[in-house]
Amino acid sequence: MAKTPVKTKKVKISEKTKKGAILLQAPKGMHDILPEDQPWWNRVRKVADTIADFYNFQRIDTPILENMEIFERGVGNTTDIVEKEMFVARTKGGDQLVLRPENTAGIMRAYLEHGLSRLPQPLKLYYLGPFFRHERPQAGRYRQFHQGGFEIIGGDDDPLYDAQIILATYRFIEELKVKNLVIQINSIGCRVCRPTYKRKLLEYYKKFENKLCKDCRRRIEINPLRLLDCKNESCEALKADAPVMVNHLCSACRNHFKLDLEYLDELGLPYALSHYLVRGLDYYNRTVFEIYAEGIPSALGGGGRYDYLAEILGGRKSPLPAVGSAPGIERIIEVMKAQGVPGISKPRAKIFLIQIGDPAKKKALGLLEKFREADIKVIESLGKESLSTQLKIANKEEVQLALLLGQREVFEDNIIIRDMKSGNQETVPLSKVVDEVKRRL
Ligand code: AMP
Repeated sequence: MAKTPVKTKKVKISEKTKKGAILLQAPKGMHDILPEDQPWWNRVRKVADTIADFYNFQRIDTPILENMEIFERGVGNTTDIVEKEMFVARTKGGDQLVLRPENTAGIMRAYLEHGLSRLPQPLKLYYLGPFFRHERPQAGRYRQFHQGGFEIIGGDDDPLYDAQIILATYRFIEELKVKNLVIQINSIGCRVCRPTYKRKLLEYYKKFENKLCKDCRRRIEINPLRLLDCKNESCEALKADAPVMVNHLCSACRNHFKLDLEYLDELGLPYALSHYLVRGLDYYNRTVFEIYAEGIPSALGGGGRYDYLAEILGGRKSPLPAVGSAPGIERIIEVMKAQGVPGISKPRAKIFLIQIGDPAKKKALGLLEKFREADIKVIESLGKESLSTQLKIANKEEVQLALLLGQREVFEDNIIIRDMKSGNQETVPLSKVVDEVKRRL
């Protein structure tokens, strides 16, 4: 059945300039990934797949849009992401959808919606895709950016899984040849021990309430842990003497953290305790971590345990052990480039097809298909007419062989194979050219 053509309204450039209204610019904080940048993205995709495959993570892709409550409830109403940074779209039916600012909540939604607990547990999942936060654009901070991620959901809350998540994330960045990585790690406790710590924090910060920024004065009652995340200078200075969570962990959390660190020791991963790392989102408990490259102030990725998320989303009556991470791709690629790590280009073609005259151009089309069937990559410049221009391109592309198809060759059902290095040429029957090329490669 013939497809109904999609109706598009073409706007002529002259119309655009007449009205002068169309801004030929990507939205603020969003970027095109041009062909010249794709080699780095190729490397990222390839390494993500290899690492995920080795550690047995299965790919999951969730929609770019999610219902707003997934993030309001999951990530938390008092977090920057939900308070300030969500791109919200209202549908004609009145639903409020959000361009996903992160993926853990969406993945948990999918896990609960599809009853993935019936699969062997824990379930190991990974993803790579675009995310959206309405932040003030600056170096390394965009409104559309990409994250990869590893999640281990279900099973028990064995700290081995925390170590496996940290390991997979670390190896992913390391395999991208980023040098001098260090893991910053902390435990933010659980429902049992965190309330005591929050009280201690509250007592401490209350003494300095007038020195806190406006946001923190508001946060102090709602979520004092968030004060430790504030980048405001005066709030940061107060952090230095704030109480430390690891001193208030209950024995279960202390043990969990201790074992987690022992696994990292066993794996020989470089880590540093970071007493004030809390990672602002509500769903975290126990282990939280971030990975940095030495000398670069912003984190390349982060993650943690989120045993309460399934419950917060209303899909469980008790905690569901889970732990995950999210490396940020743009930041990693920026460091790769700064450290001189090359991308992966697609393999170059070794053959260039030159055609001269209309009959040859027509024949060339069919011939290219024969090479495609034989899985041999051939490049051409069918829009060009002159032999010397096409030879110049073939030289520039550094191909091994050029195939020359002129009027005479078409007439005689032949083709010329030219060895670009030696300049030797041979005329062969057109029907044999694929085999002849194979023999020479
Ligand atoms: P988060 O969970 O917010 O710490 O994000 C995890 C990682 O994603 C960060 O360590 C960054 O590498 C990256 N990331 C987060 N937000 C942005 C952004 N606005 N622009 C670029 N990368 C980001």
